[in-house]
Amino acid sequence: MSRAVAGPEIERLIQLLARLPGLGPRSARRVALHLVKRKDQLLGPLAGAMAEAAAKIVICPECGNVDTIVPCTICQDARRDPSILCVVEEVGDLWALERAAVINARYHVLGGTLSPLDGVGPEDLNIAKLVERARAPEVKEILLALNATVEGQSTAHYLMDRLADCGVTVSRLAHGVPVGGELDYLDEGTLAAAIKARKTL
Ligand code: ZN
Repeated sequence: MSRAVAGPEIERLIQLLARLPGLGPRSARRVALHLVKRKDQLLGPLAGAMAEAAAKIVICPECGNVDTIVPCTICQDARRDPSILCVVEEVGDLWALERAAVINARYHVLGGTLSPLDGVGPEDLNIAKLVERARAPEVKEILLALNATVEGQSTAHYLMDRLADCGVTVSRLAHGVPVGGELDYLDEGTLAAAIKARKTL
């Protein structure tokens, strides 16, 4: 067991920081020291911002996004195209698409993928609400922006069946050669998907 180098409050801070993605115990100590040394400029304001966010965070009942207002900022944004619902697995995927600013649609966050082995069935995901939203007259297309993993793709197939009689077009992201990708470095699965999804020029 490693010896404590600071009082219990700082040790607790280090333990909590070590739970963050990408931070092990060593980097957690480094971050804690950085925060402690900048108590007024960083540690205090950060603690305040975290307490404020923790008190207000809610899951949007419409789309499953995380925000501090209901409905969420995206659902309230009248400038978004109401005809497309972009379905993602997690809030992180929504943020990634928003960062790229490639689509001006509304979203639907599933909260994971179907995984019978882990006991995750349709009722564990935000699917019933998706089917309900798909039936709204303004919705014309459901874009399944799910990960190109086995779970992501089997979830996409399941959703295609569930959405079949909702009167919407169901589309999915293209799979294939990434931008800047060299064929020589691609795996067989990616190459096969790219050949299958080839386009006439
Ligand atoms: Zn929302």
